Amino acid sequence: MAILKVAQMGHPVLREIAEPVDEEMLQSDEFQQFCDDLLETMEEYEGAGLAAPQVHISLRVVVLTLDNQRGPEFLINPVITPLTDSTARTFEGCLSVEGIRGAVERPDHVQVVALDRNGQPKAYELTGFPAVVVQHECDHLDGVLYIDRADPKTLAFLREYRRFGPLGEDADYEDEEGLEEE
Ligand code: ZN
Repeated sequence: MAILKVAQMGHPVLREIAEPVDEEMLQSDEFQQFCDDLLETMEEYEGAGLAAPQVHISLRVVVLTLDNQRGPEFLINPVITPLTDSTARTFEGCLSVEGIRGAVERPDHVQVVALDRNGQPKAYELTGFPAVVVQHECDHLDGVLYIDRADPKTLAFLREYRRFGPLGEDADYEDEEGLEEE
């Protein structure tokens, strides 16, 4: 087990299109060790999720907590399909964009199809906070950071965010502690 170094915005790995994981790689001890390390790193930094490119590994692998009861889970080669035109605005943060928060608008009902870390297929329909987390994490696999999608006038340093609260049309927004990374 190892805690991995988290890449910060500006590192090219965060802008690459990550490679799919193939069957042979998935079965390897090396890959399973990587999954353990990715999870340990997410837990160390108290993220809601972590994508492999954030630890300098350009593979389509994400670990995240969608449901506190189920605990952290892995999505390998995930594919997201929005199931609605309606969107929700959430203040997001990212372990790779340290110390900043900003409001992002995303579809609030999505389907996710992926493999688990053992190669078993799984599918979810997600709404609310888990839908935000999964879209944020899967964006990392396509070289997209939340800040690319954020409303620029809502961007705030963490200290000011905590002092003045969210900017913009989000007066009723309640801070989600879970968004400390993702
Ligand atoms: Zn992130």
